[in-house]
Amino acid sequence: MDEIRRLKELVDGSDNIVFFGGAGVSTESGIPDFRSTDGLYHQEYDYPPETILSHTFFMQNTKEFYRFYKNKMLCLDAKPNAAHKKLAQLEAAGKLKAVITQNIDGLHQKAGSREVLELHGSVLRNYCMRCGTFYDAEYMLRAEGVPCCEKCGEIIKPDVVLYEEGLNNETLTKAIRYIANADVLIIGGTSLVVYPAAGLIDYYRGNKLVVVNKSVTPQDKYADLVVPGKIGEIFSQL
Ligand code: NAD
Repeated sequence: MDEIRRLKELVDGSDNIVFFGGAGVSTESGIPDFRSTDGLYHQEYDYPPETILSHTFFMQNTKEFYRFYKNKMLCLDAKPNAAHKKLAQLEAAGKLKAVITQNIDGLHQKAGSREVLELHGSVLRNYCMRCGTFYDAEYMLRAEGVPCCEKCGEIIKPDVVLYEEGLNNETLTKAIRYIANADVLIIGGTSLVVYPAAGLIDYYRGNKLVVVNKSVTPQDKYADLVVPGKIGEIFSQL
């Protein structure tokens, strides 16, 4: 496919690539995204994911939040796919500066990526809401019902940015800096509808904006290159 050849040329010719991704990067690892037809918006739940994953819902319906969260968001057996692995390789080769991700699954780090900016946090970190004690994801999965602190009994909250919550300022500032200075910006596996994360790509000033996505995105019309398809399959050909 011509688009993949062109993407390979751009990647080969740059040592300042930045990747901005979302849930579509992990679907080939078996983690459902939100908006694909087999994504979480199309499954039977009493509330849409955006409602369940909101701060208000967490505070008011903690038990129901955790029922969904443990079932759908804690995918601890998932393994990095070809996209995660290629990004880690490109970083190790000194070509890619950072992965900026909306994902909370930790798969980029599992693949070996080091500079990963997690805009929405991570399911791998969890803290007691009162005393701040750290708990890992296995503890959260094992806990019956609502996970509570062993020390003080308070509810534990995942270090995940829920809807209605703000993004970490330091992470945002770093992400903006990487994007503003990038030579090649590759956007992949994201519907680009979740703000403020999606707005970060507006800081890109270069002329090598690439979108790799299974479906059409609002950025396609501004992109210098659109590579339609599955990101793992595409990246394994780079
Ligand atoms: P989204 O569900 O809104 O969109 C996913 C996009 O990826 C869609 O456009 C879809 O067509 C595309 N896609 C799916 N599989 C693909 C593949 N194999 N190759 C290329 N493209 C593919 O996801 P989003 O834009 O990241 O926004 C959803 C929010 O939900 C984010 O904030 C994210 O934090 C969260 N989320 C995270 C995970 C995770 O950590 N793995 C999973 C679900 C949702």
